[in-house]
Amino acid sequence: MNTCLIPRNLEELGEALGQLTGKSLILAGGTDLVLQMRAKHLEPDVLLSLSDVSALRDIIITPERAVIGAMATMARVKEATDGLSDLQALADAAGGVGSPQIRNKGTIGGNVANASPAADLPSVLWLLNAQVDILCPGGLRRVLPIQQFFQGKDGRKTQLELGEVIVSFTIDRTALQGWRSAFHKLGHRSQVTISRIGMAIALRLNSEGIIEDARVVAGAIKPIPFQLPAAEDILRGKRPEPTPGLCIALGETFKGNTRRVYKENAAKGVFEDTLKLFAR
Ligand SMILES: Cc1cc2nc3c(=O)[nH]c(=O)nc-3n(C[C@H](O)[C@H](O)[C@H](O)COP(=O)(O)OP(=O)(O)OC[C@H]3O[C@@H](n4cnc5c(N)ncnc54)[C@H](O)[C@@H]3O)c2cc1C
Repeated sequence: MNTCLIPRNLEELGEALGQLTGKSLILAGGTDLVLQMRAKHLEPDVLLSLSDVSALRDIIITPERAVIGAMATMARVKEATDGLSDLQALADAAGGVGSPQIRNKGTIGGNVANASPAADLPSVLWLLNAQVDILCPGGLRRVLPIQQFFQGKDGRKTQLELGEVIVSFTIDRTALQGWRSAFHKLGHRSQVTISRIGMAIALRLNSEGIIEDARVVAGAIKPIPFQLPAAEDILRGKRPEPTPGLCIALGETFKGNTRRVYKENAAKGVFEDTLKLFAR
């Protein structure tokens, strides 16, 4: 490595981004990147660390919106959102990432930018219709809905261009008034496990506990999260309890998969376990 850049604020970061080349790397908590650098013997010409830009760590939650800085660690995301019923899925997902050590280092921005199909936060941010605030070289900004962020062109997994970083994620809480959310995942183990299937569910219940409206987003099944409208239709008008017909709603998802029966049943189980979280 020739150069290590450690900007101290957003202005310096914007300038530093202009110095990056195709061989440069951006470092957040390092829980993904350091492993990739070792495995692939990556030797960047420039390593840009986001560690000292304090604005990237801010978490600001008001009744109107939640703005979560890209460098907010999973531990802080969990702490800030736990108990807020509309944002509870964020706390569930962040609180279930890896181990305490990983949650103290790993950031929400790194989880999303890394764009692993198995990452837990993307499906929740998708569920909550988060907007991704991006800083470009020279300091220009652009904003993308998370649903568009993962539609990378030319084999890229995200829309981030060379020298762009995620600044924050913004969630409009006014659109979530009356909604509750939850996230649950299936992995190989109960702890420090990588998702095989993740379910992010948001429900709007009436005073009798009947589901008036539902949003369901699955993660870790396909390369990027996706919404399950058939499952949402089944939930409307019912209580948040195990519901017949769910396998049928999930059936199309696994069409052509050699392990379809297992996957369908596993997804149904994760779905039902996520619904049980609404009894909290
Ligand atoms: C033992 C272990 C267990 C884990 N368990 C889970 C789990 O249960 N669930 C889960 O989802 N993940 C898990 N992970 C993965 C990892 O911890 C997360 O993806 C983490 O959130 C990544 O954040 P980071 O800050 O460490 O990113 P880094 O490793 O620093 O960066 C990851 C990638 O994102 C890019 N990047 C980082 N920040 C930005 C930004 N602001 N803008 C643009 N690009 C950026 C980097 O350049 C790099 O390409 C686990 C990892 C380990 C090692």
